[in-house]
Amino acid sequence: MPGIFAFAETRDGEIRKVSQEVVTAARKLADALGTEVHAVVLGSGIAGAAAELGRYGADKVFVGEAAAFDKYSAEGFTTVISSFIKEHGCDVALFPASSLGKDLAPRVAARLGSGYSSDVIGLEVQGGAVVATRPEYGGKLLSQVAATGGTPVFSVRANVFLPVENAKAGTVETLNVSVNEADFGAIVREIKAGAAEKLDVGEAGIIVAGGRGLGSPENFKLVEDLAAAFGGKAAVGASRAVVDAGWRPHAEQVGQTGKTVAPTLYIAAGISGAIQHLAGMRTARYIVAINKDPEAPIFKVADYGIVGDLNEILPRMADEVRKM
Ligand code: FAD
Repeated sequence: MPGIFAFAETRDGEIRKVSQEVVTAARKLADALGTEVHAVVLGSGIAGAAAELGRYGADKVFVGEAAAFDKYSAEGFTTVISSFIKEHGCDVALFPASSLGKDLAPRVAARLGSGYSSDVIGLEVQGGAVVATRPEYGGKLLSQVAATGGTPVFSVRANVFLPVENAKAGTVETLNVSVNEADFGAIVREIKAGAAEKLDVGEAGIIVAGGRGLGSPENFKLVEDLAAAFGGKAAVGASRAVVDAGWRPHAEQVGQTGKTVAPTLYIAAGISGAIQHLAGMRTARYIVAINKDPEAPIFKVADYGIVGDLNEILPRMADEVRKM
């Protein structure tokens, strides 16, 4: 058996949490199929960080260091990853369903001439074949997808396969990468990160999201205060209505045209629950909705619903969380 391929994304020289999750998902499949996990990390100055992937179940970690990989290059990464898979072979290739992973994975699938399915939330082996579960129609139904030929390529939604540390450590091997930036059609020169100190809504385990019901951008302080009460563990999310109004940055938008999130806890305050918003958050483990309208559609997906004025409820919740 050639093994399960796991692409591990880095940011600022660190392995991203979603990459630990991809390796954890790969480990689960490898155990079911009786094979190994082969993780690949591309970047510059990332060898030290890459070694940690062994703890999450990678039997071998291949590190491709090149100055050209300091920043993501669609062409460079696609060439190296698809060549690696062609040479080493693999049963299944897994990528994070991050912005980078969703760009890279279908390109690799196209080079391999195989099928691709994005944003999967479940992976299991049925009759020797790998079957992925993914939400369809904004999460209204779940479909099961299996590849009929070639190497199936999947991107894995964040916060679904929570990282599990294994006792054994994998080996780290150097991947010889020969790429020439001059061959790339496009080169990323600079990345301007916005609000780098904040937790990314796409990766946070707890999200406090606000909508038009907040009434003004200043009132978002209530949402920020509740998020802060979780002691750096919670991110602020937003509906499109408030992003379009310029109250919040697009990076915080949750939904069909924003980020797809799957936190353990999603608190929606003053959000009606339009289908396009639900598309991005309905797979959260616990949903708490605060809305003054008892008929608001958000209550249909909420595990806990609070009918009332968010101006009273959010500060009280923040007080209670601080006491925890
Ligand atoms: P509203 O629908 O106006 O809801 C505000 C809610 O706040 C109401 O339910 C109200 O009862 C409640 N409220 C008011 N005051 C209070 C108070 N004091 N206390 C408690 N509750 C209060 N939307 C997204 O969010 N994400 C997307 O990615 C997205 N993509 C879209 C893509 C397309 C193609 C289209 C057509 C739309 C998309 N939308 C998206 C927009 C979506 O349809 C809704 O318009 C939007 O989600 C509504 O945002 P909201 O819930 O904040 O506002």
